Amino acid sequence: MNTIETDYLVVGAGAAGMAFVDTLIGQGDADVVMVDRRHAPGGHWHDAYPFVRLHQPSATYGVDSRPLGGDTRDALGSDAGFYERATAAEICGYYRKVIDEVLLPSGRVRFLAMHDYAGDFATENVITSRLTGSRSRVHVRRKVVDTTYLEVSVPATHEPSFAIDADVRFMPVGGIVHLDEAPSGYTILGGGKTAMDACYWLMEHGVAPERIRWIRPRDSWVLPRTCFQPRDLVGPTLAVFADALDILARATSVDDLYQRLENAGLARRFDRSVTPTMFRGAILSEAECDALERIDNVVRLGRIRRLSTERIVLEHGELPNDPRQVHIDCTASAFKVNPERPIFEPGRITIQGLVGGFTSFSAATIGFVEATRSDDAEKNRLCRPTRTLNEPSDWIRAYRGMIHTNIMNATDPDMAAWLERTRLNITSGLARFESDPQVQGALTRIAELAEPARSNADRLLAS
Ligand SMILES: Cc1cc2nc3c(=O)[nH]c(=O)nc-3n(C[C@H](O)[C@H](O)[C@H](O)COP(=O)(O)OP(=O)(O)OC[C@H]3O[C@@H](n4cnc5c(N)ncnc54)[C@H](O)[C@@H]3O)c2cc1C
Repeated sequence: MNTIETDYLVVGAGAAGMAFVDTLIGQGDADVVMVDRRHAPGGHWHDAYPFVRLHQPSATYGVDSRPLGGDTRDALGSDAGFYERATAAEICGYYRKVIDEVLLPSGRVRFLAMHDYAGDFATENVITSRLTGSRSRVHVRRKVVDTTYLEVSVPATHEPSFAIDADVRFMPVGGIVHLDEAPSGYTILGGGKTAMDACYWLMEHGVAPERIRWIRPRDSWVLPRTCFQPRDLVGPTLAVFADALDILARATSVDDLYQRLENAGLARRFDRSVTPTMFRGAILSEAECDALERIDNVVRLGRIRRLSTERIVLEHGELPNDPRQVHIDCTASAFKVNPERPIFEPGRITIQGLVGGFTSFSAATIGFVEATRSDDAEKNRLCRPTRTLNEPSDWIRAYRGMIHTNIMNATDPDMAAWLERTRLNITSGLARFESDPQVQGALTRIAELAEPARSNADRLLAS
């Protein structure tokens, strides 16, 4: 077995690995080996359904050193006025250019595609080529970086957890675009963002809401797209962020929090008679939410157990079925919900979200801190993981993460400079707005509300 020497072994070349490495090498002289079992960088976006787009603007996704998209705003459709959001094809093409035109030409990054990593993310690091079978031991001088801790599962590659009879018309979400004749109706399986995208896509293409049956084991809170707009729209974004902090500072319970958020237009659900039990950070426009509200045939009988052409068996009941019905699988869980662990440990970095979602910004910030600090305790003080978003109280964790990362950390001058300049931070570039009263007013409110909001967040989470 041959040995490869490097400073950093980065396992995974998805959005997290790419953002981390781009910032790390931009800040110092580190040598990096990236390995991925896929054929190209970009991670799960290679398996995405054809009509998927980012939740967030392209302007703040990808790696810091190279823009994704043209920072334009949509002129038409449900997103008119909002910053453009890339498709999966655009994202994969972008990462290919980043590796070929930025990381490899630096002379300090080697990328080993089609390689499986096996090891303990510390002392034992072996990689195996999926094409030749050759194995190499990697001797790591500084750290092994695990970007797979929260690995994403997408419909095209996951195994459904329920039984499906052979003659049922069942397909992963991406299969809808290959239909060659209209079915009797569409049964959407799953309550998350993929299911929302599938329902909206069908309606956008003329399918009446009455022809959609939505099996939604859990209802979800979603966030309005107006809350996360960068660049020229940063003023309104900061104003709603200040409103959110005000609500967080006053809320007396999680239920009270959502009542206030909903009244202020900062959280949305599709059925006001049902209290959602899920919050995964899905971001939607008002137009998308209005459309999804029009689907009345919502089945809330728990998870699916078995699909046959005559009936659907669920945890809490059964439904009649029809052999001409198409079943669209949107049940992949998107993220593993692993326990938080320190991001920086001796010999190891475990990439996790700092602000609830926003993978690129989180991973690049971790890269910045790794390159500019030497003490793990100090690095962990600056980079606190926010657990994977899953349940309503996770909104509080996400906002606590934003307060810590974007406000508390900005008391360090070089962190403040990083937050101001990185394009991955939604609220970067504020120097342009020094004389803008809306921006300055919102910043004053945010400064006043950050501490009361943070301490009430701790109280709410403790109770
Ligand atoms: C529909 C959808 C929309 C989304 N929109 C947004 C958004 O707008 N903004 C946002 O921030 N996030 C969004 N996300 C979250 C998204 O998952 C992240 O942005 C990001 O793509 C995750 O990247 P990752 O690197 O953490 O994981 P992955 O993309 O899963 O990459 C991990 C990589 O590690 C490799 N790997 C794993 N184990 C091994 C091993 N043992 N050996 C070798 N290689 C290995 C895998 O092959 C993979 O390529 C969205 C997710 C989905 C599903």
